[in-house]
Amino acid sequence: MSKKVHVFNAGPCLLPQSAIDNTIEALRDFSGTGVSLLSISHRTKEWDAVMDETRALWKELLHIPDTHEVVFLGGGASLQFLYVAMNFLEKKAAYLDTGVWAHKALVEAQGIGEAYAIACSKDKNYSYIPKGFDIPADLDYLHVTTNNTIYGTEIHEDLDCPCPLIADMSSDIMSRPVDVSKYDLIYGGAQKNVGPAGVIFAIVRKDALGRVSRHIPTMLDYRTHVDKLSMFNTPPVFAIYVMNQTLHWIKDQGGVEAIYKRNLAKAELLYGEIDRNSLFTGTAAKEDRSIMNVCFVMAPGKEELQDAFMAYAKECGMVGVKGHRSVGGFRASLYNACSLEDVQALVDCMKEFEKQNA
Ligand SMILES: *Cc1c(COP(=O)(O)O)cnc(C)c1O
Repeated sequence: MSKKVHVFNAGPCLLPQSAIDNTIEALRDFSGTGVSLLSISHRTKEWDAVMDETRALWKELLHIPDTHEVVFLGGGASLQFLYVAMNFLEKKAAYLDTGVWAHKALVEAQGIGEAYAIACSKDKNYSYIPKGFDIPADLDYLHVTTNNTIYGTEIHEDLDCPCPLIADMSSDIMSRPVDVSKYDLIYGGAQKNVGPAGVIFAIVRKDALGRVSRHIPTMLDYRTHVDKLSMFNTPPVFAIYVMNQTLHWIKDQGGVEAIYKRNLAKAELLYGEIDRNSLFTGTAAKEDRSIMNVCFVMAPGKEELQDAFMAYAKECGMVGVKGHRSVGGFRASLYNACSLEDVQALVDCMKEFEKQNA
């Protein structure tokens, strides 16, 4: 019997139990072949079926239009920073600098061509999303990071953008409905909300490819992977399988629209407690609060209780509530597989701690 815990890890994330159980079965016997998932050939009809189904689930769950294709690759979201510039940067691109990941994406592009920060929230330790900046229509693209995992801020709407729009959605993909048609590219690592570490997704507008004049190495060219349906070389078989099972679970929950309602309820419950509880205070600007990563610290004057709350939360079975070192305090990541009961348990723990320290 494993101990009852509530997992709020920022990534790799909590995954649905059904995805884990079905993967364990496939590790023993993949799809009735008698061969472990770890040893199957990726050039078999059984594996083709997994790839086809995984693509189909992405398209169904996010209502991806026929203009776009979804590909699955290795290298992490961090390697996508390079893919973006290689495939889309010709003259000039702008980046919305909303945190460490956004900034890393910008720096990577600057190694390839001309890229600049169109707005930046570093002045307040990235605790808000800049607004009201003008977007020139002649940019190759504007790059945004829709959810800032470390700081707990989120862009809640799909921007109306006069130039092509590209988004890193590593930590809020499948948490809310998205109008995919507004983006030339949406990408991210699977390990924040849709799978284990080891695979990225990239949803790319097909007719936006092939417009840059540079030579793109084969493996860094999205066209290679669109043309070969993510099977140009050996795909990350294990990670894709777990992602497939995670998408099945999302569908069984009623799809992204139903998951979104639940995510809103979870976030509301926890932010409500942070705002009510005299010992804690939120760090992100209220209108930009992320529904995925909730960041909070001890209220002014209560800082000396930080270690005590950390210890008490651990005692209550809370896992992964320590804040990122650049923000401090606490962070609870409420990814899809985290339940309302998990959040209620954290809220109860905060209430009880307040009573004990009143
Ligand atoms: C975690 C994260 C990344 C980096 O992902 P890797 O797969 O580790 O390279 C990039 N962007 C965002 C928003 C993230 O949360």
